[in-house]
Amino acid sequence: MPRLLCFTAHPDDEAGGFGGTLLRYAESGVETHVICLTPGQAATHRGGAKSDAELSAARRQEFAESCKLLKVSRGAVLDYPDGKLDQQNFHSTVAELTRHVRELKPDVIMTMGPEGAITAHPDHSMVSIFATMAFHWAGRTNRFPEQLQNGLTPHQTRKLYYGTALFTMPDRQPVSLPPSSAVIELAPHELEAKIAAFKCHTSQAPLFAFFEDTVRRRGRLELFALAASSQPRKVETETDLFAGIALSNQR
Ligand SMILES: [Zn+2]
Repeated sequence: MPRLLCFTAHPDDEAGGFGGTLLRYAESGVETHVICLTPGQAATHRGGAKSDAELSAARRQEFAESCKLLKVSRGAVLDYPDGKLDQQNFHSTVAELTRHVRELKPDVIMTMGPEGAITAHPDHSMVSIFATMAFHWAGRTNRFPEQLQNGLTPHQTRKLYYGTALFTMPDRQPVSLPPSSAVIELAPHELEAKIAAFKCHTSQAPLFAFFEDTVRRRGRLELFALAASSQPRKVETETDLFAGIALSNQR
């Protein structure tokens, strides 16, 4: 069964950034995984939570509901501190993500771009950088060799994609997005599911109207930039993140 792994920073990124694509592949027989690095405890919007711990617990539950709606095979929220991914130890964080890649052995990894996606949130930038190095290093026997002593094997993922967009948000700090090379045009039910999954994050309710308005006006396409490929290749516009992989997996 082909596998897709999505690395995100905060609960709601999976819906807002990748929701339609996650559902698309789940419904076409791909095993989909989301690994979210933080439980989002530093969010501005806190629902009724009285502490960071309460907000973390609520957002983990919201994430689980969003993943269920998007038919994600398995979603996981790790324990990194929201808002502080740029202060984490590079070596140990990449090691943890590399271990996940070696365990799950995805065909395709998708994450945010190093610019931090349209919001340019530093956590988005850092999950991109950590996930990018995990993509590259998971396949090498000389990176984190201590992980390979008890049956875990190196894994070279076929493709790495960054989510991107064809617009930026006005009145914000400058952000330079990667040019898109893959276009997933959402079917009406995929677009509705993406909006519904975002609304599973009830602690973030003040963002719903803006999100839904933006997605309905400009979100029919989820765009990606092919950042790396295990096979050397030229850039060509794709409409399937598994293009070139499907045959070998008899998908
Ligand atoms: Zn985020």
